[in-house]
Amino acid sequence: MDMKLTDRVVVVTGGSSGIGLETARQLLVEGARVVVCGRDNERLERASTLLNGGKRCLTVQCDVLDVSQVEKLRDLTLEEFGRVDGLVCNAGQAKEGNFFTNTVDDWHEELGLKFFSYIHPIRIFADALKTNRDGSIVCVNSTVSTQPEPHLMTSSAARAGVLNLAKSLASAMAPAIRVNSVQMGPIESGQWARRYEKQKLEGQSYEEWLLQEAGKRAIPMARFGRPEEAAAAIVFLLSPQASYITGARLEVSGGTTRHI
Ligand code: NDP
Repeated sequence: MDMKLTDRVVVVTGGSSGIGLETARQLLVEGARVVVCGRDNERLERASTLLNGGKRCLTVQCDVLDVSQVEKLRDLTLEEFGRVDGLVCNAGQAKEGNFFTNTVDDWHEELGLKFFSYIHPIRIFADALKTNRDGSIVCVNSTVSTQPEPHLMTSSAARAGVLNLAKSLASAMAPAIRVNSVQMGPIESGQWARRYEKQKLEGQSYEEWLLQEAGKRAIPMARFGRPEEAAAAIVFLLSPQASYITGARLEVSGGTTRHI
């Protein structure tokens, strides 16, 4: 299927690893021009080499929690490509902990990351996305937004708020910009590789550890998702093929959730 993304310009926050990196790769394959941001320069350089997008790919060091850095990201994007058609709000990570183990500072940090990693880029890119009247925003969210996990209580509460916000924005920004969410279940990525390094048993491979973790979560598909499976959903919602879809949430979780 032609995703009709040729020459469109898409910004992917947190595009230097995992789901964001794979999204950038698929967008380049579809002929889009892509801007990828992240905080760590070395990781960005590795991503740039992997993506090998030449003049169609720009990597920019940017912390999405810093307004001036996000403004610079927008300015560099417009300078390089002259327009913005899509924004993937993907930067982030989960903080483990429950109501009692997380401190007030942990709450501020997690609520700050979860909300402002969407609020800053969406506010700052809104005018540019509106220009051609068919802008598209995809908010990468988590299944915990509707099915809270006891060990991710802070993150779950924040995710629920962000899901709610995305719904409001879909109405507020229509018809010029569509806003949709993808609820990710467990997807192999940089953050799981880091957890494996901390938790692995002696002699246990990454694949064995992932299968063990999938078993603990009783995932109906009996495995973690792959970044390409997550990215395919993001690319579809971004694309003009989803031109009548806004305010939706698409779950990519291997069937993890139990609610309807
Ligand atoms: P990775 O750790 O592989 O990638 C996270 C990316 O976000 C990196 O590029 C990282 O780069 C970047 N990032 C983190 N904080 C910031 C920041 N403040 N500003 C700019 N970039 C930032 O994780 P995933 O691919 O797994 O995660 C992608 C998104 O999907 C996250 O929001 C995550 O919470 C969500 N998600 C993932 C799930 C999973 O199982 N994988 C499940 C549910 C949700 P750097 O550190 O250099 O800044």
